[in-house]
Amino acid sequence: MDTPATDASAIDVSALDTRRIGFIGIGNMGLPMASRLIAAGHEVIAHDRDPAAARAIADRGAELAASAAEVASAAELVLASLPRPEAVRAVALGADGVLAGTRRRVFVDLSTTGPRTTREIAAELARHGVAMADSPVSGGVAGARAGSLAVMLAAPAALRAALTPVLGVFGRVFEIGEAPGLAQTMKLVNNLLSATAIAATSEAVVLGVKAGLDPFVMIDVINAGSGRNTASVDKFPRSILNRRFDHGFALGLMAKDVDLCLAEAEAQHFPMWIGAAVKQMWTHALGQGGPDQDFTALIKHIEPWAGVTVGRQGGRDGDA
Ligand code: NAD
Repeated sequence: MDTPATDASAIDVSALDTRRIGFIGIGNMGLPMASRLIAAGHEVIAHDRDPAAARAIADRGAELAASAAEVASAAELVLASLPRPEAVRAVALGADGVLAGTRRRVFVDLSTTGPRTTREIAAELARHGVAMADSPVSGGVAGARAGSLAVMLAAPAALRAALTPVLGVFGRVFEIGEAPGLAQTMKLVNNLLSATAIAATSEAVVLGVKAGLDPFVMIDVINAGSGRNTASVDKFPRSILNRRFDHGFALGLMAKDVDLCLAEAEAQHFPMWIGAAVKQMWTHALGQGGPDQDFTALIKHIEPWAGVTVGRQGGRDGDA
């Protein structure tokens, strides 16, 4: 495993100002998370490159900054929830990024970035005396709103201790280890399972409907039986059977998480037979419907293989 050129645990994080917090990336997850920080009494300085996203958090009381560097000149602690590894790299290390700020001491990546990029960013920040915590989250937009996320935290022990009360605002904090990157690996494994549950449940339900079963009854039975999983318990009732496809996670981002997991498996020379098949399902849906559709829409690209539609608008009692 690569080791950072500078020992991140040697960076002093004592007396870190956690009252004033920078937050970059006010999207589906960033908006509810930053809102919870404000509700918990923190002063939030926010930035998003999309002015509409930035306005949404300003409306809830955040101060706005014009760039990541400006955020990092206003707060010692900067959090980010960004879509892709390239965005995290640009925001952390770019010309107008966190590193270019004047107050930054700690950078926390809440995004799903992958362990390799995380380690590279952490090493570069450490060379400049900035500590990085790797802290991806799971639990979706509903969990972000409710403060019930699983927050995975990998950072040196002193930094974990300083950050746990802040990250606890988002949900339950799990200490994953010392080295940034470990929490990312945990998150990728979790999301591969989530992606597998959606793909496998969609395929199974489409088969059942083609064979004449009622999908509402199918999900009831699966949830009372041994086929129960996160897709059958959460995604199907809330966003698929009613054909709303509005769970709040872009399909392109779920496909990115599956790709990152398979890339890690490849790098570890570890074959993932099931993961490889799951990746094909997401790649197919991405090719058919593009990255911006909701991830629960995967089933729409399986239905044509059987010539059926699963569920109906309005749900069980809705219009056919
Ligand atoms: P999103 O696309 O809704 O939000 C990302 C935000 O970042 C957008 O508002 C975008 O304008 C902003 N942004 C992008 N590049 C930027 C840059 N260079 N500078 C400033 N702002 C920039 O994504 P999301 O669903 O909120 O997900 C964020 C991260 O959390 C992703 O890594 C995702 O994989 C992960 N995640 C999402 C969910 C979910 O259910 N949505 C759950 C767990 C983890």
